[in-house]
Formats: sequence, structure tokens, C-alpha cells
Amino acid sequence: MAFLIGASEQSVHPVSAVRDGIVFPGTENVLVFGRPKSVSAINVALKKDKKLILLMQKNSTIDDPKADDLYRVGVLVSIEKTSVGERGEINALVKGIEKVKVLSFTQEKDWFMAKYEVVKETSVKSEEIEAMVKYISAQIKKAINLGKTVDFVFLMNILNTNDSVSFSNQMAIVLDLKIDERQNLLEETDIKVKLKKEVDYVNREIKILEIEQKLSSKTQKKFEQGMRESILREKMKTIEEELGEKGEDKDLVEYDEKIRKAQMPKEVGEKALKELKRLKQMSQFNPESSYVRTYLDWLVELPWSVVSPNEINIKDAEKILNEDHYGLKKIKERILEYLAVMEMGKMKKKKGRQPTILCFVGPPGVGKTSLGRSIARSLGRKFIKISLGGIRDEAEIRGHRRTYVGALPGRMIQGIKQAGTKNPVFMLDEIDKLGRDYRGDPSAALLEALDPEQNHSFSDHYLEVPFNLSDVFFITTANILDTIPDALLDRLEVIHFPGYTEDEKFNIAKSHLVKKQLEAHSLINKEADITDSGLKTIIRRYTREAGVRELERQIATIFRKIAREIVEKKVKNKSVGVSDVSKYLGPYKYSSQMIEEKDTVGISTGLAWTQAGGDILFIEVAIMPGKGSLTLTGHLGDVMKESCQAALSYVRARYKKFGLKEDFFHKIDIHVHVPEGAVPKDGPSAGLAITTAMISALTKTPTHRTVAMTGEITLRGRALEIGGVKEKVIAAHRAGIKTVILPKDNKKDLEEIPDYVLKDLNFVFVEHMDQVLKVALKEKKSN
Ligand code: ADP
Repeated sequence: MAFLIGASEQSVHPVSAVRDGIVFPGTENVLVFGRPKSVSAINVALKKDKKLILLMQKNSTIDDPKADDLYRVGVLVSIEKTSVGERGEINALVKGIEKVKVLSFTQEKDWFMAKYEVVKETSVKSEEIEAMVKYISAQIKKAINLGKTVDFVFLMNILNTNDSVSFSNQMAIVLDLKIDERQNLLEETDIKVKLKKEVDYVNREIKILEIEQKLSSKTQKKFEQGMRESILREKMKTIEEELGEKGEDKDLVEYDEKIRKAQMPKEVGEKALKELKRLKQMSQFNPESSYVRTYLDWLVELPWSVVSPNEINIKDAEKILNEDHYGLKKIKERILEYLAVMEMGKMKKKKGRQPTILCFVGPPGVGKTSLGRSIARSLGRKFIKISLGGIRDEAEIRGHRRTYVGALPGRMIQGIKQAGTKNPVFMLDEIDKLGRDYRGDPSAALLEALDPEQNHSFSDHYLEVPFNLSDVFFITTANILDTIPDALLDRLEVIHFPGYTEDEKFNIAKSHLVKKQLEAHSLINKEADITDSGLKTIIRRYTREAGVRELERQIATIFRKIAREIVEKKVKNKSVGVSDVSKYLGPYKYSSQMIEEKDTVGISTGLAWTQAGGDILFIEVAIMPGKGSLTLTGHLGDVMKESCQAALSYVRARYKKFGLKEDFFHKIDIHVHVPEGAVPKDGPSAGLAITTAMISALTKTPTHRTVAMTGEITLRGRALEIGGVKEKVIAAHRAGIKTVILPKDNKKDLEEIPDYVLKDLNFVFVEHMDQVLKVALKEKKSN
């Protein structure tokens, strides 16, 4: 082991208590002995052999320690030099000789005398110890670089020592340690353990030094920045004074002015003045002052009393709606009626409030937004639109409270500020995509904004004062009604935009879109045009939509390219015909969304409903020799797959009726395919169409290409009611279908379908598959 206790070396020496043991064997230090007991002890020692035992106090705050207050392991030191201070204290240069353990105190009255034994330590050499010594040396240098102060000569001595015990003892003096930690090092008997502890201590110290350095550089920076700012401010003040302007309060005075001009309601004005007072009292260095300024900016900029003239002239409005939009006759009529009701309310002093809120429902691109814009134009009001799609947080509608860092008003108030008047036409887009979660229910906040009973004092969390929304003309839009919360739906007057027929699209393009895009591309001198057949090609081969958005985009693409050609002087003017269309737009995107060219075996025409409106859909069935398997392809959902199974079961159960052999299925494989794989298809409504295609294929009977059908089928062949009839029927009409087969229970849905569609179509309502086959199959051939 690294130490030995020699019983023979027991002896007696005076003891002095020290508050912090900064002498270890082999180290020197100057200590001040001021307490009476210590002074007596040192005097005794000086008279004897100048040797003294230093024992550390367990608690450095005790002034007159008793024997029990001292640790038992200490250091025997020799007193090298002494001098007496002004107040009788003795300064002594002491040198640590060896580690001792006190066995007993022989005197402890005026000073301590103790019997002790020497604790010998011997250094040990091992790679590990050497490595630790090296590591500690390196770390100490690092600590010095970070700002630790160590006497240079002393440090050199330590670093040059070859003896691990001596090294560790000196290190125990150098390290920044607590009393018990230092005592613990003194008492440690295993050199390896001792060095390990020192490794930990030195690492700890470095960490602390690093943190200190970071902090001090930060404070330094802040200090410098603060100084710089105040110097600049002082300079600014002087400049402004020189120029005769009273700096500082200038913008505060401006606020006074702005508040007066904003024509706020009384309550709001008071609030604004209160905030301004607070701002005036605030130091400009207070970070809160910028929040108060932002808040005041909002208050003074909101159109509390700014209104567009609110006159409704139904005749003019009608003219404007017609100017801006082709067709949409019924919709325009309903809007005009609605405006008339508003005007009546106003005449009867009901403040011109909206009876209910309009809700435009329909697929994208059918003119919902542009009709809203047109209403604003016809009323001479501002138009703004905000999208509610994906909003889940109530605060998005109603704002964040001001205590929240970076708080702002919600979208309602933001929209009003953007409009700059308090009676704009305010379109709330995509209310069907409003979400809700733990952050509150945005639809509740929306309801409050829309409700004429409440919205004259709409409260935004940020504003803290109510804003009157009752003059706003709200219009909401949605793609579908299903996802609108009932409470909200109750307040809405729904107007359906069913989507356009091919003919309507053509007319819209001709009367509006082409003109609009010519202007947008600065082709105002008839430099470009698209022929009628060119337009029809674009509609048929490059777009597949219920609205006209894609169509407008394609027209824009063509004009963009022509504009470039004109600038590059390749052409002077251009009329785009059928053949030019593909030059500008590339190969056809859609083969044909129209009906099949001829009546075919194994194909039926179904009707599908998608978010973008309705569409027709072909179902193909192929029969081949095999072992009775049913294969399905073309992105079919589970429900649709089940429909295929059900169709097959229906046919198998009635094999005789269709002239098939009982075991027909064992010798063939059936493949059902629904082309145009990009659109995932699901839902039970293709049941009738799948069964028809299957029977057509099995009996080799062609189907009528002008007949389309939709409806669910039961295993017994009953036709069940389905949804989305309106969109589906319009899609059928668009595609050139002549006859639509619908389940009997869907008859009621025809009411919603526009007359221009109804008059072109022949409807057959069925209760059973047999009735479908009679209409859909061309002629019955028995096998
Ligand atoms: P939505 O809001 O329904 O998605 P938009 O109002 O954005 O559709 O319409 C898309 C584009 O089609 C707009 O440029 C719009 O002016 C035009 N448009 C749609 N319907 C008509 C119409 N009946 N007459 C003239 N332009 C129309």
C-alpha cells in the first residue's frame, strides 16, 4: 500500500486549528495565526523544535474549536519564518513535512497538544498513475488558459515533479476545493483513488470556468450594446434639439392624433388613451413598450367607422353579376333576391343585417370566389377572402391574448384591417375544412362572428375591446356540405354550384376567360385568339374538371407562349386552331371523357362522385378460360371489391336466367378493371354497373354506350339508394350520356338538378337489376 503507520514514530507536538488546510506534505505556505489558541500553540512550537501540527476544522465558522471540532488527520509542519502583525497575529511561513494522525490530545486548555503517529505514503509507479498525472497537468494548463490563477514558479515545480504522491499533494493545494473535499484528499490512502478524485475535481473546475467565461462575455456584450444604444440615443436627442424638433415624444404625440382621428367607439378610445398613458410612463428601453406600440397601431388602424356607401340597387347589381359571369342564372337570381331582402331590412331600419349567411357549395373552379367578388363590386364594397382550411386553433379566428409573446389578432380582425372598411364582403373559404382539437373549437368562434345577434360586439382576444362585425357581408364557401358542423350549417343559406357542362365551359371561355387572359398577357390588340374548335379541344382533351380553373390555366399557358413568340418576333399574331393546341400544350392529357365510340361487350358506364364533382367511369370485364378466379384491378377500394364479389354471386345464383351453365364459373377467370387508375375509387354505388358489365361479358351482349348507371346492388339484385346524384348526373350530361339509370329511391334528388340538364336526359328509375339489364343491354342473345 501507499502508506505505513509506524507505531514507533509516535510523538507529541502542539496543534493549531486551521480553517482551510492549505498545507500538504511537501508544500509551503504563509499562514496567519490570529486566534489566541493558535498563537499560543505556535509560540510553544517556536520554543520547542519549531514543529506544529495543523488540523483542519470540520466547520470553518467556529471561532474557538474544541477537540471534537477538528479532523484527526493533519499535517506536521515546520515553521520556517515568522513575523508579528499589528494586532499581535503571527504570520508564519510553514512547510508541510508529513501526514500525521492524532491519537489523543494531551492538553486542550489554552492550546492543544497532541500525541500522533506519522502516516507514511510512498509513491507507486504504474502506467495508469502516470497517465492521470499527465492528464491533470494538461487540464490545469487548460484551466489557467480559462482564467485560473496559479503561482507560476509553484506550477513549474508541480509539473516537474516525478513523484506521484508529491504531485497529488501539491495539486490538492492548487485545486479549488471545499474543506471536506480537501480533507478527504488528505486522508485518502490510495494514491490511485486520490488521483482519480483530482481528475474529477479538475474537470469540474474547467466546466465552471467555461461557464463563467461564457457569462462574462455575454454580460460584456450586453453592456457594450447598452452603452452603444444610449450613446446613439443621446446623439439623436442632440441632433433633434439642434434641428429644433422635440424628439422622444414625437411619435407619442402622433398617437394622440391618430387616436382622435380613428373615430373609435367611446370604450375603445378610452382603452387606447389608457394604453398610451402607460406607454408614456414607460422607459423606452422597456421591451414591453414595443408590444404596447403594436397594440396601439392595431387600434388606430382598424376601420372603426369607415364604411363604403351601403346602397343596393338591384338593377345595377344584376347588370354587374351578368357582366362578370356567364350562365349561373338561378344562382344569380337567388343572390339578387337575397340582396333585395337585405335592402328591405334596411328600409325597415333593421340595420341592413344579413338574414342568414350565404354559403356557396360546389367543386373548385365553378366561380364561387369570383361571384363573391362580383357581389362586392355590385354593392360598391371592398372584397376580402380568408381561407379557413386546416384551421384547428380557436385563436386563429379569435386571436391570441396579449400576454402571449408575438400575439396578434385573429383572422377576422386581420381581414377587416386589410379591407379597411367595416362593411366589406368577407369571404370565408373552405368552411368544410375547418378542424377542431384540444386548442379549442374554431367553429364556435366562427359562429359568434357570423351570428347577427352577437357579432355587433365580436370579441377578439388580442384587441380586448369588441369590434362591430354586423355590417360585414359574410359569404362562406365549401366543396361539400357533409363536414360542416351542424350548428354552423343551421345559419347558412346554401347555394349549390353544380359544375358546368361542356357547352357552358365553352361559352364561359369564349365570353370571359379568353378575354381575361389576353389582358393578363398584354395581348390587348387582338394579337392572339383561339378558334371555337381549338377551345373545344382544350376542354375535351386537356381538362377534366367540374369548374373552369384548369381550362383558364391552359388558355393562360397558350397565351404565355404566344406572347413570347411575338416578343421574339417569330409571329405577329396568332389564331390557335385544333392543331396548334397540341403544339402549345403537348400531347392530349385525356383520351376522352366522353362516352365510348360504339356499343361494346363487357363494358358498362358507371357514375362516380369525387370531391371535384362527378365523373363517368367505365367498368370493363374480361372473361378468359381458367379455373374460377376473380381478379380486380384499377385502384379499387375495399367496398368496391366487395361490390365485385356481390355482383359475381348474383350472377352465379341466377346462371339459368342468363343462359349460363351451372358450372360456368369453374372453367373461366373473370377480370374486372376500372381504367383511369389515378383516381382511387370506392363506395358501393358502382354495384349495378359492375353487374351489368359482368353479365354483358358472360352473355356476350353489348351494352348501350349512351346509358350510364349508378346504384348499389344486393345479393338478390335489388337496387339501393346512393348519394351524390346531382354531381353524377351533371357529369353524365357533360359526357354526352342520354339515359341515366338510378335507384327508385333516388328520384327525390332530381329536384336539385338544373333544368338544362334534366331536359337533355332520360331517367330510368329501377328497383331491381332485371330492370337495369333491360335498359342497359342492347339485345339479349342466349348462349
Ligand atoms: P371557385 O372559387 O369556385 O374555386 P373561382 O371563382 O376561383 O372558383 O373561379 C375560377 C375561374 O373561373 C375564375 O377566373 C372565374 O372568374 C372563372 N369563372 C368561373 N365561373 C365563371 C362563369 N360562370 N363566368 C365567367 N367566369 C367564370
